[in-house]
Order: sequence, then structure tokens, then C-alpha cells
Amino acid sequence: MNNQSQNTKTTFLAIGDVHGHWDQVIDAIKSATGLLGHVPDLVLQVGDAEALRNEEDLATVHVPNKYRSMGLFSALEPGDLACPVYFIGGNHEPYEMLDAAEEASPTKWGDNVYYLGRSGAMTIGGLNIAWLSGIQRGETLTIRGTSRKERTYYLEAEVDFAKRKGLMLGNIDIVVTHDWPSGIREGRGTDLIRSITEKLEPKLHVCGHMHASHEATIGKTAVHALNAVPGAGHSGNPYGWWRLYRKEHGQIRNIYVGG
Ligand SMILES: [Zn+2]
Repeated sequence: MNNQSQNTKTTFLAIGDVHGHWDQVIDAIKSATGLLGHVPDLVLQVGDAEALRNEEDLATVHVPNKYRSMGLFSALEPGDLACPVYFIGGNHEPYEMLDAAEEASPTKWGDNVYYLGRSGAMTIGGLNIAWLSGIQRGETLTIRGTSRKERTYYLEAEVDFAKRKGLMLGNIDIVVTHDWPSGIREGRGTDLIRSITEKLEPKLHVCGHMHASHEATIGKTAVHALNAVPGAGHSGNPYGWWRLYRKEHGQIRNIYVGG
């Protein structure tokens, strides 16, 4: 760690499951811009973004037909998203297309929108980030099938890869996953995700999937589970569907909770 990275200031948002409601992403960035007095540096999105570019993408999403909808991603115009949005995969994504497109991370997916990939770690905007897409199948998976449903599962090898890349990068600021880590709320989360938190000891772990806002700690890591965005099908109020953070002097502070 050198002085330069110590003194870098980065402001960023974490946003919960979007499910095609990209107008809410635009709104959250605008709200954050108002609070900060400047555009935040980037957005991290915890999966189920449903960034569907066209009917082909839509056809590859694992979702019951009555919920199959294009959403608003394809209607976005250049400049609508004032800062780059980096998303991971949840369990409702066009995985066939994401897997085909994934080359070097991050993969450009739209104007100011990037797919981080199945698993990995890298420095983005002064933040050391590790991530894992997908959800856990009942038992740990070593080989993934190609059906829409099977593509939503992560592999044990991808969990290991996130850890390995994270350790190589070192000093991880943030872990981004769709699933929750286990042990933060009764009956929720997975041990594999928790093993990533415990191995990398990030300052912050953000996750989604349950469409519920929750805070916990694992060791020195603050775990923030994000609610789904308004309109994305959660019950009750949308408290905690986005959060604004500032990294300064090597620390990460949550400076606002949206909802
Ligand atoms: Zn969801």
C-alpha cells in the first residue's frame, strides 16, 4: 500500500436487485450526486440486474414466463447513467449471453455498464474488489450444465478462484456476491459465500438476492445485504435498496442509506 492509494478518495454506490428497473439506477445516481455535490465514481450492483439488450437476451433468462419482461435496460440512452455501473450475475440473468461475452474482466455490456464476470478480483476506481456471480445449488457443483436454470449456479472452482484472485490482489476493500454469507440471519446465506468473506477479510461485503435489507459483521467485515429496487417485487418498504459509500484514508464509510 503506497501513499497515493491511501489518499485516494472514491465515492461509490451499491445497488440491490434491479430486475430491469434501470430507471431506479439512474435515480439513485442522481440522488447520490445531489448528496455529494458531484457524480459518484462508480456503482456496484449485486446481481439480478436483468440488463437485457434485446429479445435474444430475454429468451435466455431463467424466469417463469409470466414474469418474463424486457425491462428498461434496452431503452437507456448514452449519458443516462452518469457513472459506470459494474454488475455481477444473480439468478435471473441472460447467462448464455453473459458467458459468451465474458472475456477480459470487466466486459463492456452497454453504455457505462460493465459485467464483472463469473468470479474474480481486480482494482476498479481505487477499490480492490472481489466478486462471485450466481447462487448455490443444493450441493456444491463441480460441473455446470447449460440449461437456463443450471447456468444460475456457481461452481466450487469459481468460489476458489475469487479467493485466489482476491488473495493475489490483496487488501480487498469489497466483496460483491448475490447470495448472502451464512450466519448473519437464521436460515439465510451459504457457507461457501461466508468462506470468501472469512478468507479475504474485506472491509465491506455487499449482497442481494433475498430482497431484504440487513446489516451484520463477520470479523472486521461489515456485511450489507441490499433490498431490491422499488418495483422489483419486495414486500414492505424498500429501505436500503441503495447505499452510498466513501473510501478515504484506506477506510470505507457508508455515508447514506437510500430507501
Ligand atoms: Zn432478485
